[in-house]
Amino acid sequence: MNMLAGKVGLVTGGSRGIGRSVVARLAACGASVVFTHSGPLHGWPWEGLKQSEHILPIKADVCDAQATERVITTTLEQFGGVDILVNNAGIVRDGLMATMRAEDWEQVLDTNLGGAFRYIRASLGSMMRRDGGRIINISSIGAIRGIAGQANYAASKAGLLGLTRSLAAELAGFNITVNAVLPGYIQTDMLESIPANVRQQLTRKIPAKRFGNTAEIASLVAFLASSEAGYITGQAIAIDGGLSN
Ligand code: NAD
Repeated sequence: MNMLAGKVGLVTGGSRGIGRSVVARLAACGASVVFTHSGPLHGWPWEGLKQSEHILPIKADVCDAQATERVITTTLEQFGGVDILVNNAGIVRDGLMATMRAEDWEQVLDTNLGGAFRYIRASLGSMMRRDGGRIINISSIGAIRGIAGQANYAASKAGLLGLTRSLAAELAGFNITVNAVLPGYIQTDMLESIPANVRQQLTRKIPAKRFGNTAEIASLVAFLASSEAGYITGQAIAIDGGLSN
């Protein structure tokens, strides 16, 4: 399980849900990991985590350009560089377009898409100096399937796909791969907030008849981060139990 030994990962929004599983998996694969979060960090170090001395949490808002620079500087000081960037931090502010507040549009775009832009731009110098890297953008099947009330979220996640494909072309010559992961319905706090009867209806629509779990997303991210995936770039990979087929 040491396929990422000696590598340094940076995960935005790693305090819970998918990001937390990604942090734990990269560390279990031998990487040192810095992760950011926006809210309070309860219960750190996490129970059962054996590599916590190689993991550094930093409170930093992905919408804040100065905080982004601080995260990159700290990562370089502590671990020497960035090899793997996982743009995971994301929010929803659902609402129908006719009544959507401008700030809900802007906040979702600035967090989900702008955050990726800031972290990618700030990490590239280090990846180029280290002769390669991996950028993994956590998008959503919302980027390719229309869901009423999520126009802002879908636009931000579809924007990540354009960013992924353009950057893959731009960076392939630098041995930096750029891919997007599109989770379907994944068992997280966000999903728990949906009423049980609605969750049951959703499950029936998924060919696999269940929600995904965060470890399944983390496995795909760890593979894309590994040297085994060096020829995969510019791809948008859905992991959704067949929902987007
Ligand atoms: P979550 O709400 O459980 O966790 C989000 C994380 O992002 C937290 O660590 C939070 O601190 C961080 N965050 C939020 N805003 C931030 C900001 N401005 N600056 C820094 N950190 C910030 O979310 P999740 O369900 O684990 O989702 C993670 C990612 O996966 C998101 O991008 C989400 O859009 C995407 N996704 C989730 C699902 C799902 O079913 N859960 C499905 C598709 C895509």
